[in-house]
Amino acid sequence: MLATTVQPPVLGIVVPCYNEEEVLPETVRRLTDVLDRLVREKLVAAGSFMLFVDDGSRDRTWELIESYRRTNPRVAGLKLARNAGHQSALLAGLHRARLTADCAVSIDADLQDDPEAIREFVVKYREGFDIVYGIRQSRATDTAFKRGTAQMFYKLLSRLGAKIEYNHADYRLMSRRALDQLERFKEVNLFLRGIVPMIGFKSARVYFDRHERFAGESKYPLKKMLSFAWDGITSLSVTPIRLVTAAGFALFLLSVIAGLYAVVQKLAGNTVTGWASLMVSVWFVGGIQLISLGLIGEYIGKIYKEVKRRPLYIIEKDARAEAESGNGAA
Ligand code: UDP
Ligand code: MG
Repeated sequence: MLATTVQPPVLGIVVPCYNEEEVLPETVRRLTDVLDRLVREKLVAAGSFMLFVDDGSRDRTWELIESYRRTNPRVAGLKLARNAGHQSALLAGLHRARLTADCAVSIDADLQDDPEAIREFVVKYREGFDIVYGIRQSRATDTAFKRGTAQMFYKLLSRLGAKIEYNHADYRLMSRRALDQLERFKEVNLFLRGIVPMIGFKSARVYFDRHERFAGESKYPLKKMLSFAWDGITSLSVTPIRLVTAAGFALFLLSVIAGLYAVVQKLAGNTVTGWASLMVSVWFVGGIQLISLGLIGEYIGKIYKEVKRRPLYIIEKDARAEAESGNGAA
């Protein structure tokens, strides 16, 4: 049941945008529609808003956000000083939204995730859920390659012991309470999808269909996708490094046995030519050692980044704050 007696919550919709001038007009239109309807239904408060985070775009994205902000009272903008990446841009938006919203929904700018699902997110929130995950029901519009690799990725992560929602990307609702907790995660190697489930609290799932990108092209080429996946794995799990240790022990045992065998052969008077096997094992062990070093380097690199505590993003303009202190457009 909906608690219609309590005040409707202020909803903030956070939209990270990187070179999205082609989709932005349609995104603003669709999200404004959704918000207007929610306000009319008294599901959310009149002060609900969309916060567009310009992640250092090189096209006219920020100009567009600015012009929408002037004409559309539901639009707010946050401009990052440089491209900080999807996850950091999202986090910047969530941190900002938390200051004025009771709950925040994060959604990509490209309309691949159906904005109509936001209504269900809010209904779940009002039923008392702190986190609502948007789950892709069909990924028919993604290429077979993207679907296949994504599936492998989810499987691998759960094998490695990370709790992660299957088929959920960054389309979700979080209550202020959950956002407060998110703020306490200070890591630089940020992988929101893996971190949000760690917060706990009551969570629900809402299923939706995934569409084609409305316009423009993916800002996640294969290279970025791979590095994203690799970051996800190594920032959520230490299992890979444990596997290496286990392999090291196994190899050590094997070499002891082989050594004993060689001694026995020698004592028995069998001459062992052994050159080939020697070469093979030297290369084999060398290879394993290199892999191990690489892995260790990966973790040390991550530690290095963490200890520096560099800011994840730098805000150049906070258009909402200007509006609040200025003509009150927000
Ligand atoms: N994005 C961003 N910064 C980046 C790359 C992407 O803010 O450096 C935004 C982008 O504008 C979009 C969302 O992140 O709103 C997801 O990107 P995209 O749709 O290109 O990824 P895909 O859906 O192809 O995985
Ligand atoms: Mg997309």
